[in-house]
Amino acid sequence: METTYQKPSLQGYYGKFGGAYIPEMLHRNVEELQSRYLDIMSDAAFQKEFRSLLKDYVGRPTPLFYAKRLSKQFNTNIWLKREDLCHTGAHKINNTVGQILLAERLGKKRIIAETGAGQHGVATATVCALKGVECIVYMGEKDIERQAPNVARMKMLGAKVVPATSGSKTLKDATNEAIRDWINNPNDTHYIIGSVVGPHPYPDMVAKFQSVISEEMRWQLKEHTGKDLPTHVMACVGGGSNAAGAFYHFLDELSVQLIAVEAAGHGVNSGLSAATTQLGKPGILHGSKSLLMQTADGQVVEPHSISAGLDYPGIGPMHANLFESGRGVFLSATDEEALDAAFEVSKLEGIIPALETAHAFAVLHNYKFKEDDQVIICLSGRGDKDLATYMKVMES
Ligand SMILES: *Cc1c(COP(=O)(O)O)cnc(C)c1O
Repeated sequence: METTYQKPSLQGYYGKFGGAYIPEMLHRNVEELQSRYLDIMSDAAFQKEFRSLLKDYVGRPTPLFYAKRLSKQFNTNIWLKREDLCHTGAHKINNTVGQILLAERLGKKRIIAETGAGQHGVATATVCALKGVECIVYMGEKDIERQAPNVARMKMLGAKVVPATSGSKTLKDATNEAIRDWINNPNDTHYIIGSVVGPHPYPDMVAKFQSVISEEMRWQLKEHTGKDLPTHVMACVGGGSNAAGAFYHFLDELSVQLIAVEAAGHGVNSGLSAATTQLGKPGILHGSKSLLMQTADGQVVEPHSISAGLDYPGIGPMHANLFESGRGVFLSATDEEALDAAFEVSKLEGIIPALETAHAFAVLHNYKFKEDDQVIICLSGRGDKDLATYMKVMES
């Protein structure tokens, strides 16, 4: 069963958001993907290899864990979907495994990607090593300095990390470099985008690869409780891929509340925020029409979040539509609230979450759940990468 929430139109629109706004010179690559991704993904041999790698390489199914002490604290039932236990420590690998298999079937011999904090770069370098494929990761010069451990990981995995030296020397400049590369190498190169953003078909393709998260949630909740559906599913949103995966198989189940949590930085109206649905206006970013933070004359506003994975001025078109239609509830958490939540969850459950994920936990403090609610939180990643930030808090 598919509805418009789940399934974009033929041109890749979710309501009024989505589509493919790309330079002429990318038409060939994007059209090739548009015309072939559904057939490739539904092919039995593809599914067999994808499922087998998810199981034996990524480590799926990831557990659905009843968080007893957290549940008691908030007087409800809280379940954690443990994406932090995936190989490389977050959900991002679900998508890169899918896309490397797709690239192989498209006959592409060279992979490019862009990365901000380096998490998507590492997930991409990982699957390229697995398949023995050339991997080039574009990364802002400033981010290369700030994210040395992930740069080292990518290099150790055999990837070439290319600095983007223009503009603010961060993610959007790296994205521009990756697009330039793709234009220059249309025949042999596949561009692995890391979230449910970019031109059609990326938002739909990435959501489908990540939808294994909610597919597992459904049978796991049934196994644990006998219930068919949770009452709430919560996830943090940067571009929106872990949320899209966590929501996907509940989009048609209107009794399930979908709660997306954005990064409010220093506060939604502080000027230092990444709360896209609260601040954004329709516009075009990275090849699709969506909500994005921009000035009155359409310049993209630099976002701010303490967590690099949520520090993005846009949001995927599926989420823009969930927001506009009211199907999704969009909330936000500040840097400080997220930090507090990270320490709270660590002490209550023995799980140190990624700073991104901590934003989803923070909302437990301002959203009222009932005693018999069944709330699933997508624990998108582990907190090892954020230890330096957590250490600063403990020292202060
Ligand atoms: C990258 C990342 C995110 C944000 O990306 P989405 O596409 O919104 O999921 C969230 N959590 C973790 C752990 C990440 O690494």
